[in-house]
Amino acid sequence: MKHIHLLGATGSIGEQTLDVIGKHPEEFKLDSLSFGRNINKALPQINKFQPSLISVQEKETADLLKEKLNYRAEVVWGEEGLLEIAEAGSEKDILVNAVMGSVGLAPTLAAMQAGKDIAIANKETLVTAGHLVTKLQQEKSVSLIPVDSEHSAIFQCLHGSKKEVKKLILTASGGSFRDKTREELKGVTVQEALNHPNWSMGAKITIDSATMMNKGLEVIEAHWLFDIPYESLDVLLHKESIVHSMVEYIDGSVLAHLGTPDMRVPIQYALTQPSRLAIPGAPGLKLWEVGTLHFSKMDYKRYKALQLAIEAGKQGGSLPAVLNAANEQAVAMFLADKIHFLDIEAFVERALHEHVPVSSPELEEIMEIDRKTRSSVATYIR
Ligand code: NDP
Ligand code: MG
Repeated sequence: MKHIHLLGATGSIGEQTLDVIGKHPEEFKLDSLSFGRNINKALPQINKFQPSLISVQEKETADLLKEKLNYRAEVVWGEEGLLEIAEAGSEKDILVNAVMGSVGLAPTLAAMQAGKDIAIANKETLVTAGHLVTKLQQEKSVSLIPVDSEHSAIFQCLHGSKKEVKKLILTASGGSFRDKTREELKGVTVQEALNHPNWSMGAKITIDSATMMNKGLEVIEAHWLFDIPYESLDVLLHKESIVHSMVEYIDGSVLAHLGTPDMRVPIQYALTQPSRLAIPGAPGLKLWEVGTLHFSKMDYKRYKALQLAIEAGKQGGSLPAVLNAANEQAVAMFLADKIHFLDIEAFVERALHEHVPVSSPELEEIMEIDRKTRSSVATYIR
């Protein structure tokens, strides 16, 4: 029986993680969970799984929740609450980090300090602080198991010595606007941007898919997760989202991971690897129905956010943290209908230009840079 602690239980990844846990009660026990504010979504799940520790974003939600629980549990709140969950239980437990945003970084570090393995969905952790996370990972000999479909695919296709790897190839669906020119992107609406053709995900990452910033964050993540130089990381457009990513070896062999676009597959694999479990009710991949798979080279001029991200990643230091914070702020402003779609990458570019880079920032510095960048970007609107 594996004991699971879940951050971000009401999110897209969080809900699917609960689905996986609920389908295999003999394998998994949910010991603690966190959510933000969505008590209506959280309550039925909490009463079903009865975790002994729950963390929420604010005290008001904590007070309300205590009144509504049908069993006894400890309820904590705020960023401290996330840390309590990260540190709860034993070294054998797994933390699933599926919270959205840079708030996920400190709990990842805390769980590693406590000796736990982490199934990592939260991108911001490795993007903003890859150097700190990988250092601590080695010190504590803990595993960071990828949940994102691309990284899970690479994780499953990687064998043998790193010297034999020529390239890691991440696939990108192109998001909601893959068939639009830059000119056509000027007037797009929030609703159009939220309409992803293949994947059902949280709002922020769906916008990131449309700008292609998501793939940029994933390239940075892959660099840290697999200890691979940026020169050996490639992105291919693949609109069907069937090939989730590939590893090219020096003898020309390419290993790919295929499947339907269903995040429960990589989520479950992160919890069971190297073993596998069935997914009751999942349709499975019917390649004869898919028929044709398309691949094309990435156009970095069309997807400027991807280029900005890779540049920030290559330069390293504090730049990826600025990229991430500026993007989070700009996406929030776009979702609130305050800026245009193309402003997102323009704001990120401006924030990167205005920042004076720090070469190897500590956690506190990263969090400070994150706060400052967000408040600067919020003023760009005026
Ligand atoms: P969602 O927006 O659907 O969910 C986010 C979760 O985090 C919710 O439970 C939300 O709570 C909680 N949350 C948000 N802000 C805070 C905060 N300040 N304090 C505490 N809790 C908070 O996100 P996704 O599930 O889509 O994504 C989660 C992470 O996984 C992101 O980093 C994303 O990039 C990554 N990811 C997602 C994929 C996907 O398919 N969705 C694929 C690969 C990676 P509430 O809603 O209750 O307020
Ligand atoms: Mg992905």
